Amino acid sequence: MSDDEAVVILGGGIIGFSIAYYLSNDPQYQGRIHIVDAADRLFESASGYAGGFLARDWFDEKATPLGELSFRLHRQLADQYDGQRRWGYLGSHVYSLALDDAPAGVRGEDWLLAGTSRAQAAGRRREYGNVSAPGEAVNENGTPAWMAPQTGASWDPIAGIDDCAQVEPRRLCEFLLAECEKRGVSVHLNTRATKVAKGTTGRASVVELEATTGSSRPTSLSCSNIVVAAGCWTPRVWKTLFPRSPVEVKIDGLAGHSVLYRTPRYTKPFLNSAYGPGEQGQGKDQHISYAIYCPPTKSWTYSPEAYARLDGDGKPEIWIGGLNDNSTDLPLPNLPTDSKKLMNPARLAELRRAAVQLTGMTKPGGEAAEDDLEVVSEALCFRPVSQTGVPIIQQIPQRALGLEGGSGAKIWIASGHGPWGISMSLGTGVVVSDLIVGRKPSVDVSRLVVELPPASRL
Ligand SMILES: Cc1cc2nc3c(=O)[nH]c(=O)nc-3n(C[C@H](O)[C@H](O)[C@H](O)COP(=O)(O)OP(=O)(O)OC[C@H]3O[C@@H](n4cnc5c(N)ncnc54)[C@H](O)[C@@H]3O)c2cc1C
Repeated sequence: MSDDEAVVILGGGIIGFSIAYYLSNDPQYQGRIHIVDAADRLFESASGYAGGFLARDWFDEKATPLGELSFRLHRQLADQYDGQRRWGYLGSHVYSLALDDAPAGVRGEDWLLAGTSRAQAAGRRREYGNVSAPGEAVNENGTPAWMAPQTGASWDPIAGIDDCAQVEPRRLCEFLLAECEKRGVSVHLNTRATKVAKGTTGRASVVELEATTGSSRPTSLSCSNIVVAAGCWTPRVWKTLFPRSPVEVKIDGLAGHSVLYRTPRYTKPFLNSAYGPGEQGQGKDQHISYAIYCPPTKSWTYSPEAYARLDGDGKPEIWIGGLNDNSTDLPLPNLPTDSKKLMNPARLAELRRAAVQLTGMTKPGGEAAEDDLEVVSEALCFRPVSQTGVPIIQQIPQRALGLEGGSGAKIWIASGHGPWGISMSLGTGVVVSDLIVGRKPSVDVSRLVVELPPASRL
């Protein structure tokens, strides 16, 4: 295989690295995969700051096969590489907590089910009993004692460890990066592609590169496949490389602030009551995590979601975020590393208030909870939300690129995973690798596509 057969992946988030990870399983691609990222540090985007909640089937039905495949792969990867210890992979109990002033019929997880009807969503909820660990203290309403008791709130179990799990997303990304580097994947930071031109053979392209900041001599890479996997920045990359393409890649950046914190009431991992000695690695974990979804109330105008999970060192932590911004409030910065400057203190304060209300120290007499939480970090990142509501995994035909004579290399888009990119990452990696290698994709992704102008359909 010549260097013309290399694969260039534009974007080094969880999607780019999942593709590189699975593709580099194939010996013929080892040492022939390049990840190009415009930022000077990896995982400063959604992939590094997301909640890390994984679901088996909470998706639009077009994306369900991809979601189910990914869910299985997360389990397999965690079993194979001790993911519980290394990236906090744990099955998750999931609850909906509606405070007494929540509007009837609205549930906290509803916005995540966008694209599915309420009826479908309800059909996906199974009956779960209260699943506190043995000996775990619970409040009167059944909530675990690490949460502040909420008078008059309703607390519903909505899913369990067979259908939902959690990871610490940055640690998972770092694991993928380390494995990719072992297999000779090259990572080019602070670099962006400026042009795609036809290479010397009919099936190859030359991708011209320049430094994002500072100056350096332009370089280039020859390749036979180019994957655009730049999350919210995918439309900008597309317009730069294929300015005359009639294909419109519609992906918006949906901003979300989040706070990661610790509480004195969650210092030991929750035990999994279904775990037996020696069962780790057999599809069972010694510990579990908790996810709490809350609908909007008078206390908060958005839907907070709180994830009680383990960091990669096995230390308990809580991530709180939710649908707390809309894309029109905050423009997408040029680089994810610029997001910090856009953080809105008012949004962060709102999240902190929600964290205190849900998990702060309860004062005697049932007064509002007190803030004794230790903030680990605060973040702002952007979900790449496609106009179709599902990811885009597609080869764009040569004649739809707007390049005279075509590009030579095959051009792919793998992006637009919205609020589900961590969950669907591994499946995307497998499927895009299948497609590049020329195998039948492991699951059907033929409906995860952008509309092509009629004359350019394959
Ligand atoms: C607050 C929040 C909470 C979330 N929680 C969850 C969750 O619990 N579960 C879940 O499944 N998903 C969650 N998500 C969604 C998930 O994080 C994203 O879908 C996923 O991280 C997208 O990954 P990506 O690799 O496509 O994009 P990104 O992580 O955004 O990575 C894109 C990369 O492209 C790079 N780039 C930018 N411009 C260029 C260029 N010109 N050339 C090359 N590279 C470029 C960027 O530097 C970046 O490294 C959450 C998202 C947010 C914002």
